[in-house]
Amino acid sequence: MNCIFCSIAKKESPAAVVYEDEQCLAFLSIQPITPGHVLVIPKAHASGLGDIPPQTCGHMMRVGQRVAAALRESGLSLNEHPCEGINLLLCDGAVAGQTVGHAHLHVLARFVGDGFNLGHADLPLATPQVLGERAEQIRRALSSLPPV
Ligand code: 5GP
Ligand code: ZN
Repeated sequence: MNCIFCSIAKKESPAAVVYEDEQCLAFLSIQPITPGHVLVIPKAHASGLGDIPPQTCGHMMRVGQRVAAALRESGLSLNEHPCEGINLLLCDGAVAGQTVGHAHLHVLARFVGDGFNLGHADLPLATPQVLGERAEQIRRALSSLPPV
């Protein structure tokens, strides 16, 4: 399989690595949204979110939490603004914006004026009835999955 993130994990392709342990590698995105744009990957190939073993998935979040703390302390800046916030993002599936088929958690340092916008502030409110129906559908699906 020709996977760029597997190649980076095996050190066969270069990357600006910031953290590594047995399960995970964290390195800078080659096309950064902001100056502190880190990707946390499982070292073992997993295509999507559901393919990551649960223990590794939890560990990736813990690594993301630590990388986020480091970004806040790093001194990285944008137009003299320090990192004052973080977004965690995992794009699972092409429709969700996944472009690399090896699952990865984006840890994105946020700066005043960085222009990144998740764009949900102006959306209309859903009614309680609609929310209740959707929640019921999701609860039903959850109940057929193995427990956490
Ligand atoms: P996605 O859209 O799949 O959620 O994000 C893919 C991420 O991987 C983007 O941040 C993109 O810049 C990054 N990326 C793609 N190819 C490479 C690469 O070869 N090296 C590194 N360091 N990052 C990459
Ligand atoms: Zn891979």
